[in-house]
Amino acid sequence: MNALADLLGIEEEESTKICRKCGRDLPVTSFRWRGEGTVKKRINIDCKECVAADDRIRSKLRKTAPPVPKVCDCCGESPLKPYKSQHKKLCLDHNHKTGEFRGWLCDSCNVALSRAGDSLDGVRKLEKYLMEFESKCIQTLHCKQD
Ligand SMILES: [Zn+2]
Ligand SMILES: [Zn+2]
Repeated sequence: MNALADLLGIEEEESTKICRKCGRDLPVTSFRWRGEGTVKKRINIDCKECVAADDRIRSKLRKTAPPVPKVCDCCGESPLKPYKSQHKKLCLDHNHKTGEFRGWLCDSCNVALSRAGDSLDGVRKLEKYLMEFESKCIQTLHCKQD
């Protein structure tokens, strides 16, 4: 496996790719490429059909969702904070399994949640990882003080 191809999530010499959402093994042409011209940066992890279905759910939810708050429903920060990312708007977050509206998230929280697998399980793993590190720090501190 080529390191770059691996980084880009492209299976070398493979013409198919498994959609993260529907789990089907589809030709790479069923995925939308991001990037312009000849430099195609990253293949979408969801197939075109799933992306379109997701867009439909989002636009439907937008009509019934509560008004967009000033701050993120998760971290309570304004998306306008300079470090928050280039996206200055809160994103509509929904449960990808049930299609229900969940809340309005800043880009950082939205990306973090999605990268954590959009699940409590993924978030708990991160929490456990940090807790273990913190407890190691505390132990080390105690040792130094003794
Ligand atoms: Zn799909
Ligand atoms: Zn946030």
